[in-house]
Amino acid sequence: LLHLLPTLVQPAQSLARPPISKFSVGAVGLGSDSCIFIGVNLEFSGLPLNQSVHVEQFLCNNLAVHGCPRLIALAVSAAPCGHCRQFFQELRDSSSLQILITSDHPNQNFSKSPLPFKPLLEFLTNPFGPCDLLDKESPLLLEPHSNGLSFDTSQKHANLCNGYSKESELDGNFKNLSNGFYGELEESEALPRIEALEAAIKSHAPYSGCSSGVALMDPEGKVCRGSYIESAAYNPSLGPVQAALAAYIAGGGGGYERIVAAALVEREGAKVSHEDTTRLLFKRVSPKCEFRVYHCSSVENGCKKASE
Ligand SMILES: [Zn+2]
Repeated sequence: LLHLLPTLVQPAQSLARPPISKFSVGAVGLGSDSCIFIGVNLEFSGLPLNQSVHVEQFLCNNLAVHGCPRLIALAVSAAPCGHCRQFFQELRDSSSLQILITSDHPNQNFSKSPLPFKPLLEFLTNPFGPCDLLDKESPLLLEPHSNGLSFDTSQKHANLCNGYSKESELDGNFKNLSNGFYGELEESEALPRIEALEAAIKSHAPYSGCSSGVALMDPEGKVCRGSYIESAAYNPSLGPVQAALAAYIAGGGGGYERIVAAALVEREGAKVSHEDTTRLLFKRVSPKCEFRVYHCSSVENGCKKASE
């Protein structure tokens, strides 16, 4: 299977969405479950560059979404940037992750051994990572997470739409208003909400304790979700909306404007909130999307601890 990775990089690259740089990057990774996963880079016109998704983040997110416990090796079309070498530190035994940069070997016949894989340790020596900040028992990225989050029915739900918010309670239900779009309100509200909570529960946010998740829905009712993924170095973290959009593209999703409903779940008063940036992103990429925010509570969440 390792031989397949570099040969699939070019087809993967064609799925990239870099409207700003026009620099498409593709990666293909092998999981410990013998499945092959792709990664591409995403950029968003009209938004700051730090909202972009790097190919290696996309790839790791793809494994996370599919519950693959370990990334063994990857082939990538361009050298991983420093940001991504750092992001990979969130994986268990990251230093042994095998990387092959296809552009470094333009004339190589990848069907023949040995393949020019190199361990991550050669790309990032003397790394700073989870072991500097967390207990050895703390689950790392791709390992099972359960952040003890749940909806508290006594809590107020914030229903906020793009650039406009209004909340009023009618017979125990919430009235949701958005920019000129009314879809199948019940389904478009219920499914993303449940999936976003599930994503938040699986979030890798051990540094801030502020787990969160986003789920989005297309007109056919297909829901994709993404969990917030933190980096020990903070800036390489992947926001939940970026994670959900990466899952949407990995799942064959079309244009972003096809996203009709989306939900963000995070703790009320979280020190790291994605509410405003997620709203801003949807406003840009899918202005008619009904975006709602739900605040949940947790019994054993680190957030609570951090705020005490
Ligand atoms: Zn990168």
